[in-house]
Amino acid sequence: MNGRTRELIERLAQEHHLTENEYAELIEDRDDEAAALLSQRAVAVRRAIYGDAVFTRGLIEISNICKNDCLYCGIRRSNGNIQRYRLTPEEILSCADEGHALGFRTFVLQGGEDTWFTDKALCGIVSELKRRHPDCAVTLSMGERSRESYQRLFDAGADRYLLRHETADAAHYARLHPPGMSFENRMRCLNDLKEIGYQVGCGFMVGSPFQTARELAKDLEFIEAFRPDMCGIGPFIPHHDTPFGDRSAGTLELTLYLLSIIRLIHPPVLLPATTALGTIHPQGREKGILAGANVVMPNLSPVGVRKQYALYDNKICTGDESAQCRHCLEARMQSIGYRLVVDRGDIHK
Ligand code: SAH
Repeated sequence: MNGRTRELIERLAQEHHLTENEYAELIEDRDDEAAALLSQRAVAVRRAIYGDAVFTRGLIEISNICKNDCLYCGIRRSNGNIQRYRLTPEEILSCADEGHALGFRTFVLQGGEDTWFTDKALCGIVSELKRRHPDCAVTLSMGERSRESYQRLFDAGADRYLLRHETADAAHYARLHPPGMSFENRMRCLNDLKEIGYQVGCGFMVGSPFQTARELAKDLEFIEAFRPDMCGIGPFIPHHDTPFGDRSAGTLELTLYLLSIIRLIHPPVLLPATTALGTIHPQGREKGILAGANVVMPNLSPVGVRKQYALYDNKICTGDESAQCRHCLEARMQSIGYRLVVDRGDIHK
C-alpha cells in the first residue's frame, strides 16, 4: 500500500467522504494491505454502532415471472428455459408465518416485475401480513412501479423497499438493460420511495459487464449523496441463459473491499452479506461480515420453488428448509464471533 492509499483510507474513515476521482484511485490502487486496513476501520465503526449483532431478514421469493429483460438476470422475460412460478397470497403468508415462528421479525418479499401483483393484490398481502404479525417490518423488492403505487403500498403497511440502482452511470445502465428501461426512471423510483417515507435500499453488482473503477466510483458517490438505509451489493455472477452468460463473475476480493468502503462512507448503513457473495466463495458471507457487513438474509421461500428463482448460476441455499437456512447462518455467524439477532433490525441513526 502506498502512502497515498493509506491517506485516502484514513481520510475516508474520518470524514466519510472522498471525491469521485479519489474513489477511483482507491479502487485502482488496492492491494491486500489496503484491504486489511479498510476492513479494520470498517469493522471498528460498525462495532461502535451495532456491537456484535448481525441482523437477519427472511427472504421470500414470491415470483420469477418478469416483464423486464435485464441482460444480466436469469429470470429475464426472454429466458424461455426456466419454469415460471408465482406463490399464491396464502403461500406467501404461510412462509411468513413459518418465519415468524422461527423468530424472524422482518420479511423481504422479492420478485420479478410480475404484473399479476397489482397494487390491490400486493396491498392485500402486505396488510394481511401486518395484521398477522404487527411486530414485523415488511420490505418489498418488486422493482419499478409508479409513485402512486409505492404510496398505496406504504399506506398498506410496507415499511421498506429495496431497489438496487444497479449502476450510477446512465451510459453503463443502458448497456445492462434493454431500451425500454432507463436510469432516469430508476432514480425517479428511488427518490419517490424516499420522499414517501420508506426506509430505502439501493445497491449494485460488483464486476458487472463493462464496469470499471470509474463506474464504481460513481456508485460510491451516489451512495454518499443518497444515504440509503440499506445497500445491497454482491458479485455479478453469469447466468448461462442470458446475453452475459459467458462473462466472468465479479470477485470476492473486490466485493469485500467495496463493502468496507461503503461502511466507512455511511457508518450506520444496513449492509447485507448477500447470497451471491456466499455463492462465489463457501465462506463469502462470513468474510462479508468481517469486511463490514451487518445483515444476512436467509431464504424462507418454499423449497419447491427455490431452484426456479435463479438470477444467476449455482445459487446456494436452494435445497434447504427455512429452519435449516436460519440455523446454518446462525452457526456461521457464531463461528466468527458474531450474534444473529432476530428483531426488526432497524438502522441505528
Ligand atoms: N425485480 C426486482 C428484484 C430483482 S432481483 C428489482 O428490479 O429490484 C434482485 C437483484 O439481484 C437485482 O437488483 C440485481 O442486482 C441482482 N442480480 C440479478 N441478476 C444477477 C446476476 N446475474 N448476478 C448477480 N446479481 C444479480
